[in-house]
Amino acid sequence: MPLVIGICFIIQLPHTNFLISFLDVGQGDAIFIRTPDDYTILIDGGPGPMILDEIAKVMPIYTRTIDILTLTHPHADHVNGLVEIVKRYNVKRILLVGTPSQNEFYQEWLKVADMNNIEMIFASNGTDFRVGSEVFLDILWPIGNKAGVAYENLNNASLAMRVIWSDGENNVKFLLTGDAEIDEESEILNGNSTIKADVLKAGHHGSRTASSEDFLEKSDPRIVVIQSGEANSFGHPHQETLKNFLARNIQVRRNDLEGRIDFIFSRYQPPTF
Ligand SMILES: [Zn+2]
Repeated sequence: MPLVIGICFIIQLPHTNFLISFLDVGQGDAIFIRTPDDYTILIDGGPGPMILDEIAKVMPIYTRTIDILTLTHPHADHVNGLVEIVKRYNVKRILLVGTPSQNEFYQEWLKVADMNNIEMIFASNGTDFRVGSEVFLDILWPIGNKAGVAYENLNNASLAMRVIWSDGENNVKFLLTGDAEIDEESEILNGNSTIKADVLKAGHHGSRTASSEDFLEKSDPRIVVIQSGEANSFGHPHQETLKNFLARNIQVRRNDLEGRIDFIFSRYQPPTF
């Protein structure tokens, strides 16, 4: 039974909706979550200042607080936009793997976080988080604390989690794996965690190096969201990966085609997609 840390410290006004937004930050990842009791979570910040405009569209106007800021891994297309976030927002705590990297934006981000005395939590699958009364972060990777451990391929050191919203009657599960490629997916599968999800954010922007058959089989999503930039130079998402999704009748949603993608669920109403 993993340790569960409850994050529930001030009374907030309930507005009853659970929102998860896959922000349009070009070629990169950024996911914003607002719980029904108004806690805010940001997972990655994309490659630059586009995050500032995007987050302003989904943040409640009366708050500048981010309760949990998560970095999956310190590649430019995930961390660079977060430098301005820690400078401009009241970030309560940061959840990260703690992988070393010389990326200067990552270094600056860590420096600003330290100057602002932001609490740093090194993720581990042994510690999950309850955020408010209806949202649960089920950490899948790292398996054990990996802070300070160097990785040749940083993609395979991506913080992976399921974000689960439940009002007691209905629930929705989102599986978010950063840029995890097949090696990390195998590690997660071998770790015997439950990965069943309604919505999967395709690993590594829809690359063929992620979303393995085994991982799709076990997670069995109805919808896949691909965070890739319009006309990106990496060829993401790859055609083979798209074909694999379609062969399983998984609905594909893409930031490069649709812009920002929002999912909103209401308390005591069965989820509709
Ligand atoms: Zn990436």
